Amino acid sequence: SASANGGVHMPVRLGMVGGGQGAFIGAVHRIASRIDDRFRLVAGAFSSDSARAKASAAEFGVEEERAYSSYEEMARAESARPDGIEAVSIVTPNHLHFGPAKAFLEAGIPVICEKPLTARLEDALELQAIVQASGGLFVLTHNYTGYPMMRQAREMVAARELGQIRVVQVEYAQDWLTERAEDSGSRQAEWRVDPQKAGAAGALGDIGTHAFNLVSFVTGLTLESVAADLTAFVPGRRLDDNDHVMLRFAGGAKGMLWASQVAPGHENGFSLRVYGERGALGWHQEQPNHLWFTPFGEPKRLLTRNGPGARASSTRVSRIPSGHPEGYLEGFATIYREAADAIEARRNGNSIPPGTLFPTIDDGVEAMRFIDACLRSSAQDSRWTRLRSDP
Ligand code: NAD
Repeated sequence: SASANGGVHMPVRLGMVGGGQGAFIGAVHRIASRIDDRFRLVAGAFSSDSARAKASAAEFGVEEERAYSSYEEMARAESARPDGIEAVSIVTPNHLHFGPAKAFLEAGIPVICEKPLTARLEDALELQAIVQASGGLFVLTHNYTGYPMMRQAREMVAARELGQIRVVQVEYAQDWLTERAEDSGSRQAEWRVDPQKAGAAGALGDIGTHAFNLVSFVTGLTLESVAADLTAFVPGRRLDDNDHVMLRFAGGAKGMLWASQVAPGHENGFSLRVYGERGALGWHQEQPNHLWFTPFGEPKRLLTRNGPGARASSTRVSRIPSGHPEGYLEGFATIYREAADAIEARRNGNSIPPGTLFPTIDDGVEAMRFIDACLRSSAQDSRWTRLRSDP
């Protein structure tokens, strides 16, 4: 397909780990990878169950010989093929990000990985060291950073339209774990409440990391310390399903983060509000094409995607005129498009196009530090806890 600058793109040959029949996010990745015609799915280790892996490959149009029964085998075989994959998407449960990410990075294959980066901070740091040493490409799918209105918000904050940032309120509330969905056959619930698979955090890792990442993306603030109160409300559950976290940022800004999966009435209730000396921004994920901007002392303004006042970084990632809704899949696709731009730039020896903003391994490590600090704080009766021990 032709690019905006008139160049011609050769689709990136993509492999996938996880995402077989019955999985949730793998299907989203496949759609996102196709929206801008920049990828072609040619290989996969789609499931830990090899019959399901083969059946999934057939359904997804992947040749039988490239339907692998393990990611290790896939990394070996694909890196030896002249037409081997040029990127891999890792869409397995949290404890199965590290192994595949390491295997593909070591095989020299760029990685597009789901969040949270890993189940343990040590693993995240090891992956970061591998990426740094190898110069490998690592894209983390904190997909909410792909929304045009979040790019807009980021650009407005950076242009100091709000002045110095004082307060950040972020909440990510869902209700699907209000009862024991893990006992009624939800595969998605089962591993999320299991510390062996999800890691030491429940809702905090699952959605709290998105909230933390989006705050960092939009405001550019560095989180210094947290006071966290993590709770597992549902009887018998071993991981948190509701989290209250106070935030202190470098430079004096303060914030509060609420993540909950036991909040009836909330489907994907992800909201971000940022307040500065001169004004405020507000956004809600379920109305993703709208951003409220209130310059202090003036009437509120409803900014719309691709509408009047749209900033360059926002229109750059919009696909259709204002008024037609774009949302979750398109935001996800923007991360994929930027990944394709980066892979192609490497292929051709060019630099990554300016304005490319996909989340990286460093964002993943930062979110793991956030989780780790919250766990330490909550275990000490919500005591203020620094993300890093060095002052
Ligand atoms: P899921 O349970 O629906 O899917 C997991 C898939 O991994 C299944 O296909 C399973 O068969 C496969 N799998 C398990 N072990 C495997 C192995 N050894 N080899 C190959 N495949 C294996 O889970 P999900 O809800 O799709 O979540 C997967 C990941 O995506 C998690 O890390 C989650 O945090 C993340 N996620 C991100 C978002 C987002 O918005 N960015 C949304 C949902 C989930």
